[in-house]
Amino acid sequence: MRVLHAFHGGVHPPENKAQSTGTPIATAPIPPRLFVPMSQSLGNAALPCVKTGDEVLKGQKIGEADGRLSAAVHAPTSGKIVDIAPHAYAHPSGLAELCVVIEPDGLDAWGERKPLADWQALPAADVRAFLADMGVVGLGGAVFPTHLKLSAPSLDTLVINGAECEPFISCDDMLMRERAADVVAGITIVATLMRPKEILIGIEDNKPEAIAAMREACKGNHFEVVTVPTIYPSGGAKQLIRRLTGKEVPHGTRSTDMGVQCFNVATVYTVERAIEHGEPVTSRIVTLTGDVERPHNVEALIGTPMNFLIDYAGRRTGVSEVLMGGPMMGFALPDEDAGVTKASNCLIARSPALLPDRPPAMPCIRCGDCASACPAELQPMDLYWFAKAKNFGKAQEWKLFDCIECGACSYVCPSQIPLVDYYRFAKGEIWGAERDKKAADRARARHEFRQYRVERDKEEKAQRLAERAAAKDLAAPSSQSTLPADDAKAAAIRAAMERAANATSANVAAPTLSDDAKKAAIEAAMARAAARKAEKQAGETQRSANVTQPAAPAGMDDAKKAAIQAALERAAARKAEKQAADTQEQGSANRVKPAGPATMDDAKKAAIQVAMERAAARKAVREAQDAGQKDKNRR
Ligand code: SF4
Ligand code: SF4
Repeated sequence: MRVLHAFHGGVHPPENKAQSTGTPIATAPIPPRLFVPMSQSLGNAALPCVKTGDEVLKGQKIGEADGRLSAAVHAPTSGKIVDIAPHAYAHPSGLAELCVVIEPDGLDAWGERKPLADWQALPAADVRAFLADMGVVGLGGAVFPTHLKLSAPSLDTLVINGAECEPFISCDDMLMRERAADVVAGITIVATLMRPKEILIGIEDNKPEAIAAMREACKGNHFEVVTVPTIYPSGGAKQLIRRLTGKEVPHGTRSTDMGVQCFNVATVYTVERAIEHGEPVTSRIVTLTGDVERPHNVEALIGTPMNFLIDYAGRRTGVSEVLMGGPMMGFALPDEDAGVTKASNCLIARSPALLPDRPPAMPCIRCGDCASACPAELQPMDLYWFAKAKNFGKAQEWKLFDCIECGACSYVCPSQIPLVDYYRFAKGEIWGAERDKKAADRARARHEFRQYRVERDKEEKAQRLAERAAAKDLAAPSSQSTLPADDAKAAAIRAAMERAANATSANVAAPTLSDDAKKAAIEAAMARAAARKAEKQAGETQRSANVTQPAAPAGMDDAKKAAIQAALERAAARKAEKQAADTQEQGSANRVKPAGPATMDDAKKAAIQVAMERAAARKAVREAQDAGQKDKNRR
C-alpha cells in the first residue's frame, strides 16, 4: 500500500459530476461549419498550409507547427475550406484568432492514416517529431506540446493524472471508464520513451468505475493505480506529484528537475491513437453540463461551435452564459460561436439559479482563511493588497507567479472578494509590461540597425563612384595627355586612383579613405574641365585672329587696298556688333541667372569697339574716294 502525502490547503466544493456520467460518451453531430483555431497549443499558433477552396480529408494537416513550442493542426472532418480568417476564440479576452473554416461534406472521410510502425526501434527524437506532426498536446487544459514533455533526459517517476478534481467535469472519468485499454497503451508508449523507474496513475476516490477499469487494463504490467482523496485541487500537477511522491516542486523549478513528469490521461490516449492508429488529434471528449436537458459527455470535432454543442445538449431557458472549464478555474465565453479547441474539456450552461452571482465584495477582515486554503502556500490576502495597489514588484516578490489560479482562496473568502481576478489582473499587467519592454527593445534594435545600414550604403555608394571615376581616367589616357594638365594634376589623378583601389580592399566602414578618394576624383574632374575650357578658348582666339587679319592680295594699289581693308573692318565690326547684341540680349533674358558685372563690361567694351571700327571704316572709305578723285583730276 502506497503512502500518500498531504499537500497544504485545498477545498471540497460540491462535485456536480453525477449529472454527466449517467450515459456513455456520445458522438456529437457534425455542425454546418467548423471553426478550427490555429492556436491549439502553448507557443506559436500553427501556420495554415491550405487555402480557401481546397477540399480536405479528415486528418489532413491544415496548419504546420511554427517553431519548437508549437504543434500541427488537422482537418477534423472531410469537406471544403471556405475561409481562413480571424474568428471568435475561446479566451477570456474575447480577442479573435486565426481560424480555418471548413464546410463539412458529411462523409467524415479519413485521409490516409499512417501509424508509426516499429516505433520501439526508432530513435526517441523521431517519435517526438511524429507526435508534434500529429498535433498531440496536453489535453488537461495547459495544451503544452507533448513532444517537449517527452524529452526529459531521465525520470524517476511518471505520473499519470486521472484526478480530475474540478466540479462538473467528467470527461477524463468517462474516458478511463470506457477506453481504459487505449489509455494504458498510451502510458506504455510514454513509459517506453521516458524509461521511468515507476509509473503512478492518480485517480480521485470519487471515480470508482474509472479506478476499476484502469486497474483491470493495467493487469500484467507494473503500472500502479493510486486512489487519492477527493479534494480540490488534487488534479493540479504539483499537488498530485506532492500527493503521490512527497516531492515538493520549489518555486522556479520544473518537476522534471526533480525527476518527475506528469501527463493527463486524455493526452496519453491521443499519443496511442497517433502512434498505433495514425490518427492526429481531430476531436476530444467534452462534458456538456449545467442548465441543459441532457448533461453528458460527447466526442466533439475540434472547431465545433460551442453554442452548437450546448443547443445539442438542450439549452434550458434562463441560461445566462456558458463557461468553458469548471466553475473554479473556467471562464465565461465572450462569444459562444468559438470553436472547440484541444483545451475545451467542459462546457457549463450557467444560470443564476445553478451558479449564483457573487455577492458584492466586502473589506478584507484578515481572517486568514484564504491562506489556509491555498495549495501553493501563498498569502492570498497580501497578494490581493499588492495587486489592488498595483504594487506589482512586491506581488512578484510574494510569489504571485506560483499562484495556479485554482480559486480556492476566493471560494473560502467570507468577504466574497474575487481574489483570483486580482491575481489575473496583476499577472496580465506584468506580462503586458514585459511585452512592451521587449517590443521597445526590438524597435530600438531595428532603428539602430537601420542607421547602420544607411551609413553603410552611403559609404559603399561613395566608394563605387570613386572607383568608377578612377576607372574612367584609366580608360582615357591619350585624351588626357593632349590636355594642358600639369604634372601636379596628373599626380593628383594618379593618387586618387591609387586611393580608390586601396579603398576596395579596405574595410567598407572606413569613412576617411572613401572621402579622400572622392575628393581626389572631384579635383581631377575639375582639372580636366579647366583644361578643356582653356584649349577651347585658345582655338577660338586663333580663329578670330585669322578672320580679322587676312593677308592682303598682291599687286593691288593703295586705294584698292584701303577699300578692301575698310570693307573687311566693316564686316568685322558688324560681326562684333552682332555678338555684343547677342550677349546683351542673353544677359537680359536670363532672369534666373543674370549676367554678372564682368559680362556687362565686356558687352559695353565690344559696343564701343564696334562704334570705333565703324567710324574708322567710314574714314578709310572717304579717304579712298578722295584719293581716286585726285588721281582723276591729275590725268
Ligand atoms: S479570506 Fe478574504 S477576508 Fe479573509 S483574509 Fe483572505 S481575503 Fe481577507
Ligand atoms: S488562486 Fe492562487 S492564491 Fe488563491 S488559493 Fe489558489 S494558488 Fe493560492
